[in-house]
Amino acid sequence: MNVKTMVIGYRNELVERLGKLVAIKSVEGEPAPDAPFGPGPRDALHAALEMLKNDGFKTVNLDNYIGYAEVGEGDQLIGVIGHLDVVPAFKEDGWKTDPFQMHEKDGILYGRGVDDDKGAVVASMIALKVLRDLNIPLKKRIRLIMGTNEETGSKCLEHYVEKEGHVDYGFTPDGDFPGVHGEKGMLGGFFHSKSQNILEISGGTAKNVVCAKCTARVVKNTYSSKKLSDWFNNLSIEFDVEELDDANRITVYGKAAHASTPELGINAISCLLVGLKEAGMQDPFVEFYCSHFGLPTDGSGLNAKLEDEFGVLTLNIGVIETNGDEITGSIDVRSPVTISTKTVLKAMKDRLTDPNGTIEFPTVVEPLFFPADSQLVSSLVDAYAEVTGDTETKPMTMGGGTYAKGIHNTIAFGCSFPGKDYHIHDANEFVGIDELLLQTEIYVNALIKLNEI
Ligand SMILES: [Zn+2]
Repeated sequence: MNVKTMVIGYRNELVERLGKLVAIKSVEGEPAPDAPFGPGPRDALHAALEMLKNDGFKTVNLDNYIGYAEVGEGDQLIGVIGHLDVVPAFKEDGWKTDPFQMHEKDGILYGRGVDDDKGAVVASMIALKVLRDLNIPLKKRIRLIMGTNEETGSKCLEHYVEKEGHVDYGFTPDGDFPGVHGEKGMLGGFFHSKSQNILEISGGTAKNVVCAKCTARVVKNTYSSKKLSDWFNNLSIEFDVEELDDANRITVYGKAAHASTPELGINAISCLLVGLKEAGMQDPFVEFYCSHFGLPTDGSGLNAKLEDEFGVLTLNIGVIETNGDEITGSIDVRSPVTISTKTVLKAMKDRLTDPNGTIEFPTVVEPLFFPADSQLVSSLVDAYAEVTGDTETKPMTMGGGTYAKGIHNTIAFGCSFPGKDYHIHDANEFVGIDELLLQTEIYVNALIKLNEI
């Protein structure tokens, strides 16, 4: 029997397992002594380990952070690293069905996590079973590692590495086919400044999202109202001005986008502050903001307009607020995959402090990069191409981060097929059953290849 036929034989089991896992609302909750990320993620881990135990695999639960099942023998270890936690989902956000009750229609499964990442975990479970059915002599151990805190910090994988160390080869089915061989570095930070003319400012919902709405209470007669409206109108920026006793309340509407692609959004904070400067406002904070950030999203204001053959550095200001007499805002920088964060910080060095404000980057994560012709990347890409016949799509790099940054010798591989949008983190997340079966077949082939290296 060939692999495809064997995989298809597990179709019903795959769907049934996924339905059970989707029904466990594994959103991060209040920690408890036996549930570091709350009861939902813990229960999902227990259920998944139970399935694998019933399959006859050796299973290990590492303190309800993360667990694994293993097959094969040998000194070297191959890891398949997926996650069982999910982001929240609410019916009122536009779900047509209950997000925590998997629904099937015309071969498509709907529910939170059917794609990201419970679907990929279940496909990997079946891949392990097929590998065992095939009786292929395994000279390496293969471990399906299932975490429970990927969406909110990946502390589960930190715990794994602390207890079990790294893997020799690995993939995390939580990105794209035919593989993600580079992930940008990340510098997370803040700026602090003080304004004379802006009494209050607030905007943004999250650090990793381009700010779509920003409101400021601004002292009257510190700028030209006409110049401000002209500037907004010329750029087709939506805005409102409300006249208060002592000040004007200005609200600017931009467009949200993920912080890794800030050029696709319109930053309401930047539009508001650059608009005020263009309208003649003289203010230490406005000056500070416009000279260090302004409208560009390429880091040029911080002297960090850097790029490599895979992409440019990006910068996003996500959230801004007034704290007492100070204004603070979040900065999310994604640095090119082959440029170290040290180089980025060195370039920025002279731009981080001036009399009008300061900038600091307390969070620094190095980029991840494997050459496309490395053994790990080429084996995975070949495994995908052989099963799908798609030899055109090349491995990619991205601005987001996955588990691959937290454990050595690992890249994201699957589970999204090229050019498809599965509405992950959004309403009506879906995946085709045939796509899950195809994923499974690709994982089996990938594991055979990694075993042979
Ligand atoms: Zn995910």
